[in-house]
Amino acid sequence: ARRKIIAGNWKMNMTPTEAVELVNTLKPLVATEDADVVFCVPAIDIIPVMEAAKGSNIEVGAENMYYEEKGAYTGEISPAMLTDVGVKYVVLGHSERREYFAETNETVNKKMLKAFEHGITPIMCCGESLEQREQGVTMDFIRQQVKVGFQNVTAEQAKTAVIAYEPIWAIGTGKTATTEQAQEVCKDIRACIAEIYDEATAEAIRIQYGGSVNAATAPELFAQPDIDGGLVGGAALKPDFGKIVNYK
Ligand code: 13P
Repeated sequence: ARRKIIAGNWKMNMTPTEAVELVNTLKPLVATEDADVVFCVPAIDIIPVMEAAKGSNIEVGAENMYYEEKGAYTGEISPAMLTDVGVKYVVLGHSERREYFAETNETVNKKMLKAFEHGITPIMCCGESLEQREQGVTMDFIRQQVKVGFQNVTAEQAKTAVIAYEPIWAIGTGKTATTEQAQEVCKDIRACIAEIYDEATAEAIRIQYGGSVNAATAPELFAQPDIDGGLVGGAALKPDFGKIVNYK
């Protein structure tokens, strides 16, 4: 069986001082042996969060990184900078980065390849807009995101990857997808991975649901056969995240 992975995406919240306070609050609440627990935090918070999380089960991830090794890319963070301080995960292609920072399936793919090259596990986000859902093109759109995102990624690498299905209409809206909607798309994403690679890869890859996950909706969502955990925004900044992690 796949091990659950429950990750918080802090987005552009929490100064380093606030971040340390939050980790100290959450540390005892998110303790579990049943799931991987990852805090994906702003770059400037990574080191203080790591220090504060020492001795706990919390793993630290980044919210983004650049796809070049190093050089004249003002404002960017390289994969080596992340691994140097022990970062194991990176969120790639979040819908907010696609919308506000011109990320495309192609740039997400470049970042995916770089992450694997450096041994960082990508949490690759995909998901449709409300308009696309209403037009009935949800799976066409997501298939394309996954196909291009995983171009030239080997099956061995893909097995270790995490995909986060985040319907844009459910992000920050308080409108969680129904359990059926979330399970259906996560199942289709797994089928898409089986088409690109094989059954073994599809069985191994972990697929999260994200979008207004809270302590009330998590248990049913995470019990679905194709949902291997969650990527949590707002609720990851509250003690509720402990309930989400310990949803059983
Ligand atoms: P919310 O949980 O705040 O809806 O955010 C979801 C998200 O975008 C996680 O990456």
